[in-house]
Amino acid sequence: MYVCPVCNGLTAVTQTCPKCQHSMDHQGRLVDFMGDYIAYLEYEGTKLIDGDEESTNQHTCVHLYACPSCGEELDISIKEVRE
Ligand SMILES: [Zn+2]
Ligand SMILES: [Zn+2]
Repeated sequence: MYVCPVCNGLTAVTQTCPKCQHSMDHQGRLVDFMGDYIAYLEYEGTKLIDGDEESTNQHTCVHLYACPSCGEELDISIKEVRE
């Protein structure tokens, strides 16, 4: 199975703000912010592209980063690794 190395504490991703070059704070997983809404969207999307294994299972985990200096927010797709 695939696991996200950031969620599992295997690695820390340091992200630099594209606007001011300040190092950004890790806010957590995007799904934790969106909650049930994004889970619902993903479920619906999976149904729509039924049969396309590659596009429905991309093995990425989206993390949210915010810049404490200018307030810029970034969604970063973390590639999941095989456990
Ligand atoms: Zn993750
Ligand atoms: Zn910034």
